[in-house]
Amino acid sequence: MNILVDDDDDDDDEPSTSRCPPANETTADDHEALQVEHFSHQHKLTLIDGQEVARQDDQDEGITCNGCMLPIMRGESYRSCTEQAIEKPCNFSLHINCAKLPRMRLLPLHEHELTLLPKASFVGGVFKCHMCESLSQGFSYSCGDCDFYLDLYCSSLYERKTILCDAHVHTLQFSRQLVSCSSCGTCDKNFCFRCISKKCDFRLCIPCVKLPLIVRYKYDNHPLRLTYASVKNDLHEYYCDICEGIRDRKHWFYSCPDCDFECHPDCIRGRYPQVKLGGSYKHDDHQHHVALVDKRKSAIPNDKRERLRPCPDCLNMCVGLVCECLECGINIHLEHEWAADNRGFLELLADLLKMFIPSNEPDNNSSRWRQGIHGTEFRVPKHV
Ligand SMILES: [Zn+2]
Ligand SMILES: [Zn+2]
Ligand SMILES: [Zn+2]
Ligand SMILES: [Zn+2]
Ligand SMILES: [Zn+2]
Ligand SMILES: [Zn+2]
Ligand SMILES: [Zn+2]
Ligand SMILES: [Zn+2]
Repeated sequence: MNILVDDDDDDDDEPSTSRCPPANETTADDHEALQVEHFSHQHKLTLIDGQEVARQDDQDEGITCNGCMLPIMRGESYRSCTEQAIEKPCNFSLHINCAKLPRMRLLPLHEHELTLLPKASFVGGVFKCHMCESLSQGFSYSCGDCDFYLDLYCSSLYERKTILCDAHVHTLQFSRQLVSCSSCGTCDKNFCFRCISKKCDFRLCIPCVKLPLIVRYKYDNHPLRLTYASVKNDLHEYYCDICEGIRDRKHWFYSCPDCDFECHPDCIRGRYPQVKLGGSYKHDDHQHHVALVDKRKSAIPNDKRERLRPCPDCLNMCVGLVCECLECGINIHLEHEWAADNRGFLELLADLLKMFIPSNEPDNNSSRWRQGIHGTEFRVPKHV
């Protein structure tokens, strides 16, 4: 989304008590120190001049800011750990402005003062942002007493109060009421940006406000553009070229006109664009490290390729962002981390379940998935 700060916005109703630069607009001024300490990292962070350093990385594998989880664009200056580690490099980088954010701030979105947290204490540091309701890694403004988390992009969006979007002529204003998102059709979000004109019905949910204008697809040499309206076709049928599912003609999508390629935003960006899938994270209730995976229920009934597994904590099939242990061949819902009551009982249940879930020796198959003894998915006896 091409967000422009609305200059006409008068500041008499200032929503925040501390001003800071928006997280995703970073510019180095002449007085930037070459090296700075940052509370979130054990080594000093060096200023990398984006103009001088020729970036070797492919845009797909670009550098991500560990603060806001947004990419650091080519040519953009940033701060990075340059410590020559013996084991493995830190791979820790921050937008210049993300490195300057205040440690504490008060935002009217929450009644208590918020603390800048480098990593939430859940598996993989994943938290749920209060404003966009997305799962995210990276820094957050958090209230420990209330389990309140706000990702950095949302904190800067909230601070702006008004934005301009090139899909609509008028200014959009932050609002607490979403009726229906003009981009994706969702109605079940708590916040949105809506047109200031009473005559317009244009509203965007926060995740749609955050959609980048351009994304890359590994099988297309051209960049894909965020597109607001489908060109009418004779069949009146619109499909996604990635999932082959139907696209709603009225919803935003990404397209490449040269290749006649069109797709759902979720299909190209993933359902959890603020989370780095994979990895190896410590899980408090499991003896091995786990990876973060996105498990989707297949749209095709009885799809043999569907590899959903039951969660040992709640016995429901694991869908969405889940923790996976390849050694044990199990998935665990991430949400249990956030509602970890009755842990004793659930642990007992999990132990019981382990007797029924086969634990194969790890194979050297290149496939990420191992087969259960009953075929492609593990089955759990009904009355445990
Ligand atoms: Zn950042
Ligand atoms: Zn480091
Ligand atoms: Zn958010
Ligand atoms: Zn609080
Ligand atoms: Zn939306
Ligand atoms: Zn309008
Ligand atoms: Zn799709
Ligand atoms: Zn395990």
